[in-house]
Amino acid sequence: MLEEITKLTGQNNGTTSIVLVGVHGDERCGIEALKKILPTLEIQRGTVLFGYGNPRAMEVNKRYTEANLNRMFNRDEQLSEKEKESYEYQRAQFLKSYLIKADVLLDIHASSIPNSSAFAICETNAKDIVKFFPMRLVVSGFDKVEPGATDYYMNSIGKVGICLECGSINDPQSAKIGEESIIAFLKARGHMKNNLAPQKQSYVQMFKKYFAKTDTFTLSKPFENFEVLEKNQVIGIDGNKKIKAPKRCLILFAHNGTKAGDEVFLLGEEKASPV
Ligand SMILES: [Zn+2]
Repeated sequence: MLEEITKLTGQNNGTTSIVLVGVHGDERCGIEALKKILPTLEIQRGTVLFGYGNPRAMEVNKRYTEANLNRMFNRDEQLSEKEKESYEYQRAQFLKSYLIKADVLLDIHASSIPNSSAFAICETNAKDIVKFFPMRLVVSGFDKVEPGATDYYMNSIGKVGICLECGSINDPQSAKIGEESIIAFLKARGHMKNNLAPQKQSYVQMFKKYFAKTDTFTLSKPFENFEVLEKNQVIGIDGNKKIKAPKRCLILFAHNGTKAGDEVFLLGEEKASPV
């Protein structure tokens, strides 16, 4: 049941959208939000597909089982043989067969960083949709610094991909934001009557992602999402090398690393407009 995609169609013709939750199986906010709204949801116009991204990881409440599903949307030649043998790779092929049927994707996530607030990840092609989302921050640049996610895949085939970070994994508020955002998305896309006013939002552009070069990357301290770094501030120690901020910037998803190649942080900077 969790494996399948649910399709709702309105009485009026319209475009097609897709909503995914649980692409990371331990990010429960989207899963809870969808379970709550789906039984009574009425679509007035067009078609909306709803799916659970990674059912096997959801069952064991883990981010993934064999490979990070949200990197399996890279081109095949960018994936290792081991990744291509994974359950998540197979699942990505299944999900792609639905993603290509939709014009716009909303993919719901949560952050393992404590006190994380909600933000949308998208490129400028999504600006007329995300302006209705109940959050202050819109972040772009991921397609370049972190390709391979569902939203990257949609953008790469000329469609629109939006990833939503609803807040911290263990914050009950995250499920509420997930629920409000799915409804805002359906309204902004014209599947339901849109009675929402655009939000006042600010914008961040990511410019760098750092992968650990050794098996021990240790942060100099725990960093909150979007914490401001000063130029040359030490972010962490990679083996025995100090890794410093190249300029005044913002840090995102900062984690310790335990093997070379681990994704340990991203850097971005504020910008004035979504363009
Ligand atoms: Zn996630």
